[in-house]
Amino acid sequence: MNLADYRRSARAWLQENVPADDRPGGDPIARAKEFMAKLHDAGYSGITWPRRWGGQGLTQAEERAFAAEARGFTLPTYVFSIGLGMTGPTLVDRGTDAQRERFVRPLLRGEEIWCQLFSEPGAGSDVASLQTRAERDGDHWIVNGQKVWTSVAHHADWGLLLARTDVEVPKHKGLTMFVVDMHHPGVTVRPLKDMTGRSNFNEVFFDDVPIPDEHRVGEVNDGWSVAVTTLLHERLSISAGVGMSGQKEDPTSLEALRRVVDTGDPLVRDELVELHIRSRALALFNQRLAQETEAGIFPGARGSAAKLLLAELTMFQADLATRLAGPEAVLGDSPLAHAISLAPAMSLGGGTNEIMRNIVGDRVLNLPPEPRVDKTVPFKDLKVGTQG
Ligand SMILES: Cc1cc2nc3c(=O)[nH]c(=O)nc-3n(C[C@H](O)[C@H](O)[C@H](O)COP(=O)(O)OP(=O)(O)OC[C@H]3O[C@@H](n4cnc5c(N)ncnc54)[C@H](O)[C@@H]3O)c2cc1C
Repeated sequence: MNLADYRRSARAWLQENVPADDRPGGDPIARAKEFMAKLHDAGYSGITWPRRWGGQGLTQAEERAFAAEARGFTLPTYVFSIGLGMTGPTLVDRGTDAQRERFVRPLLRGEEIWCQLFSEPGAGSDVASLQTRAERDGDHWIVNGQKVWTSVAHHADWGLLLARTDVEVPKHKGLTMFVVDMHHPGVTVRPLKDMTGRSNFNEVFFDDVPIPDEHRVGEVNDGWSVAVTTLLHERLSISAGVGMSGQKEDPTSLEALRRVVDTGDPLVRDELVELHIRSRALALFNQRLAQETEAGIFPGARGSAAKLLLAELTMFQADLATRLAGPEAVLGDSPLAHAISLAPAMSLGGGTNEIMRNIVGDRVLNLPPEPRVDKTVPFKDLKVGTQG
């Protein structure tokens, strides 16, 4: 099928199958799962993922064509965004065939929900300082510790868990990646309320939770390199809006704002032009990264630049909307108030703006790196968690 036909079929499918977002009552997670299964059956879930593991084996061109059509709809796919954008691609890249066979298709069909268990109270930007321990016990590992800010953990069936397996070596060298069953006894999930008033992320506690060794992803003590794979996918997927695409009405977008502000005012027009330029620049940058990926050039640390641009654009939009719509924009539970209070999260989740700048400086611009002592000292000799 040529691209124009593909796009026409995608549009027709979306028109027929995307549920109205104002359907009252019922279980929204069950509805989201039902939608995801239909999306997969129609060939629009995992468009570029390998056919062998349940994907469609198509190219970035089809992926972009579908995303462009989906922009006019609100797809109920948010709860799958961690699986589709981060943990799924990590399993495809770094999992065993048995893990891919077991996990990837159910993830693409929305049968199982995933979360990503990296951050801890003392380990966010510096995630390699994490203290959750996994200790070997025969053909299992026993996990104890705490994670925090874990998006969608309260709905998750599986989690991609980074844990410490060796304290005798420098901190990056003693980590291992696992798949953990979120329903296992000993896993406790406590939702946290964010400033939008909703609970999208959680604290997660592990008390003697066993994980079979076949659920280890990558080699023992090679978890850092697996985590880097996840983080690269995370930054690219956040900037490209994987699982979050298709928000029909972003109330801070140019299209929404131009309907409610005085576009005859030259100062307002100036601001809207600036918004247009920034949005367009990011869209073109993302398109370039996608085309390069298709040509076999992995974007690497430039994904951090895309994520930084998106975080800055999101804050710019929120500030602009507040200035143009007035203080009442942030009152109540309107979609605009929600978008404005959610905006700062983009500058933190997936790595803060400061960390993105450090990565771009270090790995894209080749500027001198920050001085580090923690790459050589064994983890047990670092004063982790006691630093100011
Ligand atoms: C909406 C949202 C969703 C999230 N979802 C998940 C999830 O699903 N799974 C998960 O594991 N985590 C998740 N996180 C956690 C997120 O990855 C961390 O919040 C982030 O990495 C920052 O860590 P921290 O909050 O511990 O801040 P800290 O690392 O303590 O940073 C505090 C401040 O210091 C600055 N800083 C720290 N180090 C440096 C440095 N070297 N140079 C310059 N400045 C520095 C930071 O930029 C920041 O401003 C989520 C966070 C948010 C906001």
